[in-house]
This record gives sequence, structure tokens and C-alpha cells, in this order.
Amino acid sequence: MQRFPFSTPPRIGEAVEVAPGILWARMPLPYRLDHVNVYFIADAGGWAIFDAGLAQEGCREAWESLLAGSLAGASFTRLIVTHAHPDHIGLAGWLCEKLNIPLLTSLGSYLGCLKISLDPGAMEQQIYQEFYRAHGMAEDVAAAVRSLGHGYLRLVSPLPRTFQRIMHGDTLVIGGRNFDVLTGEGHAHEQVMLHSRDDGIFFAADEVLTKITPNIGVWSVEPDGNPLSRYLRSLRKITEEIDDQALVLPGHHLPFHGLHGRCEELAIHHRERCDRIVEACRDRPRSVAELVPPLFPHVEDVHQLGFAFDEVHAHVNYLIDLGELEQIDVDGIRKCISSEAQVTR
Ligand SMILES: [Zn+2]
Repeated sequence: MQRFPFSTPPRIGEAVEVAPGILWARMPLPYRLDHVNVYFIADAGGWAIFDAGLAQEGCREAWESLLAGSLAGASFTRLIVTHAHPDHIGLAGWLCEKLNIPLLTSLGSYLGCLKISLDPGAMEQQIYQEFYRAHGMAEDVAAAVRSLGHGYLRLVSPLPRTFQRIMHGDTLVIGGRNFDVLTGEGHAHEQVMLHSRDDGIFFAADEVLTKITPNIGVWSVEPDGNPLSRYLRSLRKITEEIDDQALVLPGHHLPFHGLHGRCEELAIHHRERCDRIVEACRDRPRSVAELVPPLFPHVEDVHQLGFAFDEVHAHVNYLIDLGELEQIDVDGIRKCISSEAQVTR
């Protein structure tokens, strides 16, 4: 069970102390998930900022009111960005320029963002259309999903031309405090997390969230990838490295205690999803697209459908690697069948 030491989040434009020398603020998002957390860590000569928010007016205004309100007159030393998703990296370029501070992030985050920025139309290549078609997605849906790269650019300001790389195993000294740098996989490439062992504080980014499970999806650029296996490995590593009593400061929702229990819940959630997929593939072969409705009955738009498809695909690739599913060709569509059903046929 998780415990939540702060029952209400800070108001937009307000920063509150969650531990000595650590502030928490929120940026608004125009989605059902309507906010992202940003943090400030006391550094020599000012505050290090942890995550930036989305490159949209609402977040820019929230920053302006923070800088004129709770953080009026404050100095800033650097911006640490956790991963390349727009709600976290979106305003990195804007903030670094405005505050004249360097960007610190992982190579995976920097290059991941740069890849889309330099080549937003890449997803329209025929090879990706074919990838979605072969897994059963309707042509028009596939075309819409593939155009999402252009949407990304509207949510991300151009990155600074240089950055400071941080990677798993580094120690980052912030204001005299030592933070171990960890990176997690599955939700994003090389997602940065920070851990102060001495103070029992863990900046978890989106790797461990309460309320929602981080989206784990197959990326069409790596069609046979197994992000779920990597994600589960990251959860195990986090459980080994970090004390259950640590204060967890996540990318969304409230800070909490009870890290190990939450990691276990997340692992169980994915195993249950796997079981439902294997079950659905027992009676007849099903494509990834055919597995989406039983797992995600409430998908509302193309954007959500793309996420749901990639998420189901992650479970499918994981189950194929485990030998629990096999893929067969049915009239040019790749369909999954449970290995057990295969044996007994
Ligand atoms: Zn996020």
C-alpha cells in the first residue's frame, strides 16, 4: 500500500517544499492526465530544475507565474530532463534559453527528441504503414497514427544545441547532496531517475507512477523490440537499489511512500494483461489490432488507439520471447496463437 504524505498538490504557479531543499510544482496539461510534476533541488548558487513541461501556452504561463510568485528572485543552475516525452522535455529549449542554464539529460532522451525534430515525417515511410498493416491495423487508422510525429513538434520547443550527458551509474552532486543517476527502460529510452540514498529521496520520473501505469509500447522503428521485458527488469532493479521507505517523487500525481509494493503491483498488472492475451489467443489466432478491443474497450480517438496498439504489441512481443505465444501468417496478417493451443491442435 502506498502512503501519500501530501494530500493536495500545489496550485499552478506555486512551489511547495516536500523535503529539505526540494520543491514541488505543477504544470497544466490539456489532456485527461491534466498535469505534470516539476521539482526544484537546492544547488550551489540556485535551484536545479527537474523536468520542464509541455511547449504550450498553459505551461509557459505557469512558468511565468512561478517565476513571478513562489520563485520570484530565485536563481537557477541547470535543467535536468527525465525523458523525451513532450510533457517532460517540451519546454527544455525554451527554459534553458530563458534562464541561461545548461540541459542535462540522457543520450537516449536527447537523441530521441532530436530524431523526431529533425525528421518529423519519417513515420510516413511505407515501411511503417506496412508494419501496422501486417499487425491488422486498418489503413486509415495506420495513416493517422503515423502522422503523430508532426504533433510532437508542436509540443516541443527546439532543444538547446548542446547538452550534458548523464547516464546510469553516474553520481550527480547537487548542492552538496549526492544523487545516484539511474535510467529506466520500457516507458521511454534511458529515462533518467535520481536517488539520494542519504536522504531517502527518489525522483522516479514516469517509471513508477501511482494511479496510472506508465505506457509501455513497441516503437515501429524497433518492431521486434521487447520493451516490457526491459521495463520489468527496471522495476526489479529499482526495488533492489532503493529503500521501500524512500519518498518517491513521481512525474505525475502525488509523492508517495511504498515503492516496493507499487513496483510489485505494476508487475502484476502486466502479468494479468499477458494472461488475458494468451487466453484470447487460445480459441483462435488474433492480430495485435484484434487484441486491442478486449484489452482497451474504451479507446476514444486515434491518439489513444495508437497508444493502446503499441501497448498490446509490447505484451505480444514479450509473450513471444517467453514462448507463450507464436505468430503465424493468416492471409498476410501476423496473428498470435497461444503456444499451448498450438501443441494441442
Ligand atoms: Zn509523463
